Amino acid sequence: MARDWSSATGHEIHDALHHGTATASDITQSFLRRIEAVDGKVRAYVDIWKDHALKQAENVDSRLKRGQTIGPLAGVPFAIKDVLCTKHGHTTCCSRILKGYRSPFDATVIERLEQAGVVFLGKVNMDEFAMGSSTENSSVQVTRNPWDLKCVPGGSSGGSAAAVVADECVASLGSDTGGSIRQPAALCGCVGMKPTYGRVSRYGLVAFASSLDQIGPFTKDVEDLALVMNVISGRDERDSTSADIPVPNYSQALRDDISDITVGLPKEYYTDALNPEMRQKIESAVKILEARGAKVIEVSLPHTEYAIAVYYIICTAEASANLARFDGVRYGYRAPKVADVQEMYAKTKTDGYGREVQRRILLGTYVLSSGYYDAYYLKAQKVRALIRKDFEEAFQKCNVIATPTSPTPAFEIGAKTADPLEMYLSDIYTISVNLAGIPGLSVPCGLTQSGLPSGLQLLGKPFDEATLMRVAYAYEKNRGFDIGKPPLT
Ligand code: GLN
Repeated sequence: MARDWSSATGHEIHDALHHGTATASDITQSFLRRIEAVDGKVRAYVDIWKDHALKQAENVDSRLKRGQTIGPLAGVPFAIKDVLCTKHGHTTCCSRILKGYRSPFDATVIERLEQAGVVFLGKVNMDEFAMGSSTENSSVQVTRNPWDLKCVPGGSSGGSAAAVVADECVASLGSDTGGSIRQPAALCGCVGMKPTYGRVSRYGLVAFASSLDQIGPFTKDVEDLALVMNVISGRDERDSTSADIPVPNYSQALRDDISDITVGLPKEYYTDALNPEMRQKIESAVKILEARGAKVIEVSLPHTEYAIAVYYIICTAEASANLARFDGVRYGYRAPKVADVQEMYAKTKTDGYGREVQRRILLGTYVLSSGYYDAYYLKAQKVRALIRKDFEEAFQKCNVIATPTSPTPAFEIGAKTADPLEMYLSDIYTISVNLAGIPGLSVPCGLTQSGLPSGLQLLGKPFDEATLMRVAYAYEKNRGFDIGKPPLT
């Protein structure tokens, strides 16, 4: 019986390949078997790239056979959120409007990982155009939380988180506009990071809200997170918003020493809205940081209460502009049997978009329209500046901020679909971070009584991902438990 590699981390796989105890092909086969065994339950993948993955694995094996050295991620199996453009397979954002669409180019992150020798297993599920917090807005399927198949995996990158946690890949890529990496990472129980706006090129990321979107990784531990960030970070000529700021070696930043760190706890986040069990998890996590020598202080983010309102004005405004290009002419789906071009546009959009995407386009068009622009959009931009200033002031007093990632653990499928506002509230702790453009990560901080994961969110100063990862690493090393694996088989 061939060995099962599916629970291995990237650094373990690298060691095995380096020492010749496994081939990249064996490892890829093992993941394909795992997907075969569990994806019928989890439903993370929307497209499995079996032949492509095996070919990439063979390339790594032939390098090894020729005695060439391989990079730390060579032969490591990844999954890709279907919002990233890939030449191979389709790129659909899990929307009917992009059904069958093939991108003529690869996103920069895909290109960089491919150069690093990564094996891509396929594309994973998401809320349509990344709009949602539960992956229930996908036009393809509903992904399940591997810990409890009745529950959602979070969203919008629910497929990316579920695939990592169900051992259907080692790591994956997602996008985060208001929490879509950190929230599903917390609800499924893995590490997920939204880098600083500009740290990772967005070239080839289908845009939802361009001033908020960032690409980031999901991994099984912080060590793997650093390895992926080493590859995907840095300036890209093809994305003018990518920053020309040197990228440190994140792996070297991981030290179990946080005695120089001050952790800020924002008083506005620890209110009655926070589920008591989640509060207790975060308090225990903070105690561990304190025991490792970190100083803990209270900070204030006074404009927190406006974050959700501001976010839903800005993200819908930007989405209404970004999604205008899907008109049935250039991409994907076009409505048949129409009398003229106007009817073609209208019918394509009506049939092609799901309800949440339509709601956002309508809201966005409204807040940008003449007479409402000043009252909504402009005012939201002003409050966004105040939210950013809150963080700047808090970071005068501390190096990282610790919060819950999500106010509750994973909820049941269908529980919030009838009430969009209730769904929007799931992002209360993650949204301000995108408005401010700062980096944030989520690291598992234990299981609740009912056996569902919870996440500790750590926020950092712009472009200081290294400190964030160091604190997360120290926590992971000293938290004294491992959440284990979901009981899938
Ligand atoms: N849940 C938020 C929304 O629906 C965030 C989504 C995201 O980060 N892509 O917009």
